[in-house]
Amino acid sequence: MLEQASPSRDRLKRHFARRVIHQARLTLEVWQRLQRGSWNALEMGELVESNLLLLRYAERFEQAEHRQLAQGIHACLVAVAENRGRLNSELIAGLNLLMQRLSRTGLRHNDQLEEVLLPALRKPIYVALQDHQQAARLCLQLQSYGLLTQAFDTINGFRDAMAERHPAAIVLDINFAGSGCGLQLAEQLHKSTTGKLPLLFFSQQDADTTTRLSAVRAGGQAFFIGSLEASNLLERIEQLTYIGHYEPYRVLVIDDSLAQAAFTERMLNSAGIVTRILTKPDQAMTVLADFQPDLIILDMYMPGCSGPELAKVIRHNDRYVSVPIIYLSAEDDLDKQLEAMGEGGDDFLTKPIKQRHLVATVRRRVARARRLHGLMVRDSLSGLYNHTHILQLLEDACLRARRSAQPLSFAMLDIDFFKKVNDTYGHPMGDRVIKSLALFLKQRLRKSDFIGRYGGEEFAVVLPDTDAPTAKKVIEDIRQRFAEILHPAQPQDLFCTFSCGIAELYADDDGKALSRKADQALYSAKQAGRNRTTVFPS
Ligand code: GH3
Ligand code: MG
Ligand code: MG
Repeated sequence: MLEQASPSRDRLKRHFARRVIHQARLTLEVWQRLQRGSWNALEMGELVESNLLLLRYAERFEQAEHRQLAQGIHACLVAVAENRGRLNSELIAGLNLLMQRLSRTGLRHNDQLEEVLLPALRKPIYVALQDHQQAARLCLQLQSYGLLTQAFDTINGFRDAMAERHPAAIVLDINFAGSGCGLQLAEQLHKSTTGKLPLLFFSQQDADTTTRLSAVRAGGQAFFIGSLEASNLLERIEQLTYIGHYEPYRVLVIDDSLAQAAFTERMLNSAGIVTRILTKPDQAMTVLADFQPDLIILDMYMPGCSGPELAKVIRHNDRYVSVPIIYLSAEDDLDKQLEAMGEGGDDFLTKPIKQRHLVATVRRRVARARRLHGLMVRDSLSGLYNHTHILQLLEDACLRARRSAQPLSFAMLDIDFFKKVNDTYGHPMGDRVIKSLALFLKQRLRKSDFIGRYGGEEFAVVLPDTDAPTAKKVIEDIRQRFAEILHPAQPQDLFCTFSCGIAELYADDDGKALSRKADQALYSAKQAGRNRTTVFPS
């Protein structure tokens, strides 16, 4: 009797869990919309409502983790209301942390729960290309990374599908179903669809500026040319669709007048931007290191040190060469403004300034700076963090782990017998395998894990809040699945495996010690026969 009852109870439980996760997604979507909007009372109200619903479902369907997070979010929102609807940096950061945790709950790629739940929630990617074989190939590649896809041959087929269900993203050939037709189709869609869907254009040949301009006007968020690589595409789609893991913008306001600085701070906070005020310019370097701002707002005239002088000091440090500096001053002499800009400043705003104007300028600058920084710290073949940066991230993670007394693991991966892949199939094929492992890691690890390309066919992963046994479980799952991938090649397709060494942060190890231990563990894995994961003995 009991044996019969339990499968259906499991099914029921799964069914309810799905509703809770669905509501969590909706809440995260409201949160994501806030990042682009103005954080007005209406939008905040929507967040309150959505979260309350999440709380109710989580309580009713006994989802403890979701309930706890929803309660935390509710407490933050109540605190905002009690602060006369005003946000401050702590509240923004607190909310963001909870939202990040919410986005991770049950969404871990190798989490069993997710295997059961997400396919039902996940939307497909619509692929509409002029070359139908290319479309079919692309769909296959995307599917091997676990995405749902749907390819189209005709405009009508595409329209019907759009009317029935909105996709997660659209990949559209500007010449789909005839020269220039794809672009026209997008223009029509752009006018009729209210919600903005991620739209990625593709063109077999390089496109001129006019075409690209039309693509932008039709709502295109990316433009791919020539061969369409699943990995590049996926990276963009991820950027455009991923919700939850968003770091609020951080702005350092340097002004000798606390009243002025506080005024600026309020304008930024109420748009969800985290701030720190500095009234003593001589402490700038310490505060910069501690706060790590995305952007600096600088006063022109301060006692003891002028704004342009301070800008020069900041720029002398390599770590801050690309942090945008914006002057905010009552100075309206254009010559003086230009002079200041020459000294490492990026923009000049004159007081008094409208909130909307200030926020728009800050957001635009930070978005650009983050994108540029992303290019600087990434390896161009794999799109993962480069050697230098992954080690920097490891050091930072060690500090954080020790401060919060949380575990931390570091994993080093190395593809087995990779030289043979190069020798047998050629270097370009080797590159493809490297890319595919990179993409596989990105797809399968948490958004909070840092993944780097350590060297040629070596990868490194920083896993915060993770002990060695858990890290081993995660990597083992990835290892087994990667070994099952058949890489298409000539003269015949091939399989590839990797070995992995893991070390957990112990006592007062630093990043260097940790990576040395992981490297030793990797060596043991290779010695023991490869295609396995070894943990450094603790
Ligand atoms: P093991 O199982 O012991 O790791 O053997 P292996 O052949 O994988 O290791 P080895 O370190 O001897 O060789 C690694 C090879 O990877 C040598 C190098 O030519 C190749 N390689 C390094 N970087 C790249 C790259 O960016 N692209 C390609 N295609 N090959 C690379
Ligand atoms: Mg090697
Ligand atoms: Mg190797």
